[in-house]
This record gives sequence, structure tokens and C-alpha cells, in this order.
Amino acid sequence: MPGFEAFGEEEKKHIQDVLDSGILMRYNFDALRNGNWKSKELEEAIQQKINIPYAHLTSSGTTALIAAIKSLGIGAGDEIILPTFTFVASFEAVLFCGAIPVFADVDETLTLSPQSVKKSISARTKAIMSVHMCGAMADLDSLIEIAKEYNLFLIEDACQSIGGTYKNKYLGTIGHIGCFSFDFVKTVTCGEGGAILTNDKNMYDFCHQFSDHGHDHLGNDRGAERHPLTGLNFRISELHAAVGLGQWGKLDEIISKQRKLKSILKTILMQNSEVKFRKIPDENGDNGSFLSLFLDDETSARNIFSELKKQSIPCAYWFDNHWHYIKKWDHFKNLKNDHTLFKEQRDLLPDYENQDFSASDEILKKTITLPISLKWTEEKAEEIGNTIHQILIQQKIKFSK
Ligand SMILES: *Cc1c(COP(=O)(O)O)cnc(C)c1O
Repeated sequence: MPGFEAFGEEEKKHIQDVLDSGILMRYNFDALRNGNWKSKELEEAIQQKINIPYAHLTSSGTTALIAAIKSLGIGAGDEIILPTFTFVASFEAVLFCGAIPVFADVDETLTLSPQSVKKSISARTKAIMSVHMCGAMADLDSLIEIAKEYNLFLIEDACQSIGGTYKNKYLGTIGHIGCFSFDFVKTVTCGEGGAILTNDKNMYDFCHQFSDHGHDHLGNDRGAERHPLTGLNFRISELHAAVGLGQWGKLDEIISKQRKLKSILKTILMQNSEVKFRKIPDENGDNGSFLSLFLDDETSARNIFSELKKQSIPCAYWFDNHWHYIKKWDHFKNLKNDHTLFKEQRDLLPDYENQDFSASDEILKKTITLPISLKWTEEKAEEIGNTIHQILIQQKIKFSK
């Protein structure tokens, strides 16, 4: 998954350009910057690569999500449907826009179950946030159909699936608005950073303005710019964008390496006909950063997880994870008692603690996920694959059908 494993001379060169000019801010200082516009250059490179007219960089994936939600006019008391398996930033963004996170179950795609989304729609629902977890996509055709039927926005949180596609379109460019994260462990990194992607000029204008205190970015005198809206500072710095430019140039290489290593691993594990893999709606579009397996049950999953740990093979068991699965989000479930939120918002929050997410539990309980490392050689991937294969056989684990 992480682009930081590919950090090298290209990133250093772009950083050095910025250091030589001494201008670390993305706007203004035209005469002093030696022609360096790293943020702009990265936005253009993203637009070109993923074929979208508007990309705007921000300080993080979280701030990208906040600006994206606000650009849709979603706020106080509105509901956004999102999956129980995601990263905490997804509900944080919804919450700090004044809106209400409503969780729907995930299915064997490890992303939103369209049936569960349908059941979660209320008169207050404004958007579906599809989170393309672990490098691969949700069932987007079904989600688009639901969004159309109920007149909802589709937001794509593609923070973990940069470079992935669905039916030949890049993830993040398919819904009304999409977001990338370039934090340190993502497919490509800026150190910290994010991007908002959209086909809509009005949403784009809102996003670049909102992310810079409402500046309209017209003309070349920053001090004289007007402020069509009230915003915040979600800007990326030129140093971060410089890192990102170096990384972005390696995206194809990163994706093809991940896919190759993942396929080596998967081919070895497939010798065992009982192994069951995560369902991926468009296998060709998987960015290859993770391989997820379903074990028979919770006990088998826990056994295999601890055996892999003993053998120093990196592996995630999301069911116990504090960042990614709703079961352990106690801080979030306690928000009803957080007096710093408006009472009106607290009163609208569902009783998350007592909601039934057993359908998600059933999936996550038996899931283990192997991250694909860019540092592996093909031989290393084979070696790891064979070790896991042996562990599965030795433990005589029977996989679910
Ligand atoms: C990383 C991530 C984010 C947030 O990105 P940051 O850049 O860390 O703020 C949001 N959603 C998902 C699914 C993520 O994995």
C-alpha cells in the first residue's frame, strides 16, 4: 500500500526546487518563486491522469472530505450514509459539518451493502458516502442507482484506493465528488495531504475557496481578493505538494508492482480450493494494495492471525481494530454526551451503541487482510505466500463456502 516505500530522488528533487526558492506557500509570491507552482502542477497531473476536469489539493484526506461535504450544501441535521468498516475520518468529517453519520452494513465486498444502504435512507438523507476500502471498490452501479432513485449525492471516499478503477473509470471520479488522502501510509503520499475531485465547476470553486478562508483566487493580488464565502485554512504547502509530485510520477509503477505481488500471493493461496477471497466488483480495477481472505469463522480467523504474527507476516484483523471498525469506536458512540456539540445535533444522533450491526460483524469477524509491500521482491512474495499456505493447511482450517 504505502508510497513511502518508494520515496527517492524524484521527491527530493521537487523538494529541493521549493527549498531553493524559499517559497513554501502555494499562492502568491509570483516574482520570488522561480516558476515553482508545485501544488498547481500536482493538481494538473492528477486531473490529466485520472481524467477529471477539477482536482483541488488540501492539507489532508479529512479536510478534503469536509470541504467536499460542504460543497454539496450538506450540513446541520442532514444525514449521510456511510459504512461501518471505514476509517474514523469518514464520520469525523460528517460530524464536524454538523451532519449526522448514519451507518449501513458492509457485505463481502468489505464496502457498503446496497441493501443496507436502502434500509438506512430517511427523509433527512442527503448523501451516500462510498468508502473504497483497502484498495478496491464498492458495488458502484448499485449505489449510483440508489442515489438516482432517492435523489441523493454520491460521495466517493477513495482515500485508500488511489489508482484503482471501476469499469475503466478511476475511483474518486465516478460519484458527484471524490476524495483522496496522501497521508503517510497511502498509495501515494505527500507526507500529509488530500485531494478533492469533481466534474462540477461550482463544487470545485466552493472547495478551493472554502479551503483558503473563502478567497476567490481571481486576479494576481491576493490582498485584493474577494471572499464569496466563509471558509477555513485547509491549504497544502508547497513542500508537501513537492513530495506528492515525485510520488504521483510513480503511481503506475506502484500499482503495477502491487498488482503483480498480490497476484503471486493469491495464486499460491488459490491452490487451496477452500480459500475464499473478498468479493471485488471489478477485479481489474483493484489497486492491489491488500489481499483479504475470509476464514470459516471468528476462531479460525483469530488463530490464523496470531500464527501469522508469530511468523512476522504483516496482517490486519479489522474486527478488533480501533480505527477502522465501529465495534471499538466508544469515543464516537459517547458523542451524545459531548456538550461541545449543539444539543440539536446530539439529539439527532442515532443510538449507535444499541444499533444492530450483526451483518457487518459476521463479515469482519472472519476477515484477515494482508498488506502488499512495495519492498517485496517477487521471490519474497512467493515465500510469504507459501508460508501462509502452509499455515492454512497445518491448522486444517476449513474455509467457508
Ligand atoms: C486515510 C483515510 C482518510 C483520511 O485521510 P487523512 O489524510 O489521514 O486525513 C479518510 N478515509 C479513509 C478511508 C482513509 O483511509
